[in-house]
Amino acid sequence: MKIPLVDLHAQHNAMQAEIAAAMSSVMADSAFVGNPANPYVRAFEEQFAAFTQTAHCVACGNGTDSLEILLAAAGVGRGDEVLVPAVSWIATSEAVTTCGATPVFVDVLRDEYTMDPACAESKLTSRTVAIIPVHLYGAPARMSELCAFAQRHNLFLLEDCAQAHGATYQGRQVGLFGHAASYSFFPSKNLGALGDAGAMTTNDAALARRARMIAQHGQSEYKHDHQIEGRNSRMDGLQAAVLSAKLRHLPAWTSARKTLSRRYRLNLEGLVDGMQSLPEGSDSVFHLFVIELTERSAAAEALAKAGISTAVQYPAPLPLLRAYEHLGFSVADFPNAAAMTSRILSLPLYPELAVAQQDYVISNLAALRRR
Ligand SMILES: *Cc1c(COP(=O)(O)O)cnc(C)c1O
Repeated sequence: MKIPLVDLHAQHNAMQAEIAAAMSSVMADSAFVGNPANPYVRAFEEQFAAFTQTAHCVACGNGTDSLEILLAAAGVGRGDEVLVPAVSWIATSEAVTTCGATPVFVDVLRDEYTMDPACAESKLTSRTVAIIPVHLYGAPARMSELCAFAQRHNLFLLEDCAQAHGATYQGRQVGLFGHAASYSFFPSKNLGALGDAGAMTTNDAALARRARMIAQHGQSEYKHDHQIEGRNSRMDGLQAAVLSAKLRHLPAWTSARKTLSRRYRLNLEGLVDGMQSLPEGSDSVFHLFVIELTERSAAAEALAKAGISTAVQYPAPLPLLRAYEHLGFSVADFPNAAAMTSRILSLPLYPELAVAQQDYVISNLAALRRR
């Protein structure tokens, strides 16, 4: 049996007619570029604001731009330090650097894999102005501690929700705890476009206005009225129309991810060397299902031989990547991040994964344990 890590064909085949209708509508209107007048982009913004229960959604080019634009809109720049977790996709720390500030890496909690609030506290300096918790693999970070910490020190709290569309923490959706949230619609994310797209959400009208202005060359709501130098980060009309169609399916897809993850968890207990724990009262949307194995590479190889695709997301803590070599960090500086990244393995997980396929993955992992 061949089982991919992610199967976008399955999703797109099931909704081919909806996607085709969305695309031909955009083509009929020639509404390709996400300028302020684009009805598809504006409609998606409204729908996504409703989904995230926020007052404002600003669409943009991708989930890296959304982080960077929000930081810039909040006035973060040269001389400032921003706390980021040691385990994430590089976009989280990269956005800090590209807006002129310095990322300060914080170790993660060993079992939850998200930013350790106590470690964040220890990295605070007089230059710290912002903090970016990442809801990694769809699991909420420890928001009660992180919010209290951010409030105590007057930090701009930006939630990186790129992997966590609709996850909840103590009954509230992630993205509502900070000043703003950043989303990615990279094709393989829980809500994915047919290419690049991203969005920013916030309840702060002034912040939303400024973010929108930055994303459209510094223009106010009037064309050619450039208040500042901004940049170009637009969501295509085609992507917006496809995302609107897909957003209607997101609750069902999320519930399928949860059901499958619950099954993985029940059946893999004792067969693997660890699984992500969730903070009290939180609900993950399982962007990924990640296990820990001490003999990871042998296991991945055996699974691949059986036709099962797996991945290591991510193979190293951010501060130990070549890109940050100049900072001179070693494994000892991020013991939890180093320990988890040396053992993690992502298993196939997508809403259309059949129970028989999942059972095949589970039985192959069981066979490994028996060897
Ligand atoms: C995917 C991702 C991003 C970046 O999103 P892009 O749309 O690929 O630019 C940022 N942060 C995290 C945690 C991500 O997973």
